[in-house]
Amino acid sequence: MSQDRHFETIAIRTQMERSAQKEHSAPLYLTSSFLFDDAEHAKALFNEDIQGNIYSRYSNPNNDEFIEKLCLLEGTEDGVATASGMAAMFLSMVAFVRSGDHIVASRSLFGSTHQILTQILPRWGVTHTYVDADRPEDFEQAIQSNTKMIFIETPSNPAIDLIDITWLSELATKHDIILNVDNCFATPYLQNPIKLGAHIVTHSATKFIDGQGRVLAGAVLGSKELIKEVRFMARHTGPSLSPFHGWLLSKSLETLAVRMERHCENAFKLAQFLETLPEIAYVKYPYLPSHPQYELAKKQMRLGGGLVSFELRGGIEAGRNFLNKLQMISFSANLGDTRTIATHPASTTHSKLTEE
Ligand SMILES: *Cc1c(COP(=O)(O)O)cnc(C)c1O
Repeated sequence: MSQDRHFETIAIRTQMERSAQKEHSAPLYLTSSFLFDDAEHAKALFNEDIQGNIYSRYSNPNNDEFIEKLCLLEGTEDGVATASGMAAMFLSMVAFVRSGDHIVASRSLFGSTHQILTQILPRWGVTHTYVDADRPEDFEQAIQSNTKMIFIETPSNPAIDLIDITWLSELATKHDIILNVDNCFATPYLQNPIKLGAHIVTHSATKFIDGQGRVLAGAVLGSKELIKEVRFMARHTGPSLSPFHGWLLSKSLETLAVRMERHCENAFKLAQFLETLPEIAYVKYPYLPSHPQYELAKKQMRLGGGLVSFELRGGIEAGRNFLNKLQMISFSANLGDTRTIATHPASTTHSKLTEE
């Protein structure tokens, strides 16, 4: 399947080769290992002289189908599927950094990504500098001679801040640094960071890609050359995705476009309504003209996304009261489900951050 097909056509028609059963929808390959034809075949597979399945920690037809489709949708060459979004974030960093290296990251990040940068990587001598998304000029200043990666989220969780991917990828490329974009909030339907110049795209497929709150999964995508490093790391450290989840996610991608259209339509209406309420201090939604980066949102994103952030007048107590009074909307931390949720990052996912 080529990249110039329609998004929906790629999402629906990218499918593994049919078996002798001539199934219409892809079957599930729940097998840990695969057979070799003979000693020469086994040797060639292990030498990577030929492509083929050996063991599901390395590859599996269901995960390969999921990744092939996701690569086409993101406009890139290769990828690795992982057992969670965090496994993808971690792999996408440790595949490229060595002791003594440095990462520049946007400050507004998913809570566990923040923990990797501040608590885990420093154990191996990898340091970081945070930059505020609304001060992009600081990215260049933060770059050091040992900087190997710039890691960003756009839109960010939970602040819904945007970063100009084209601009930042030019800066990264100029300094020979890998730009890694966590594209979980936008999904490949709304934004394709690699087409805009980024080098690596990471996903938590747990969110909109699954879209039904069933599985944990992630992916790291990029050029063949870069993904070779990620695959080596994944193959030998084992954060592999279950083939059952790969099978589910490939089917989930078939409906990503229609789901995102509706998520965005609903979120936009909700954002417009919230903006009219006097109890609300501000609403942040990329496609609202009041968003400080509205012009960038229009340039970089196909639609505004499925998430709205807002702040109530009355501070943290007002936030807690609001959540305690919700009737149908679920109070939960996992976004991207069919069921609308509301969450309070200050008491949950981002509670480990300082008040500032
Ligand atoms: C949820 C999330 C992650 C982590 O993914 P898991 O699948 O929960 O491990 C990473 N980044 C962002 C932006 C997320 O929302």
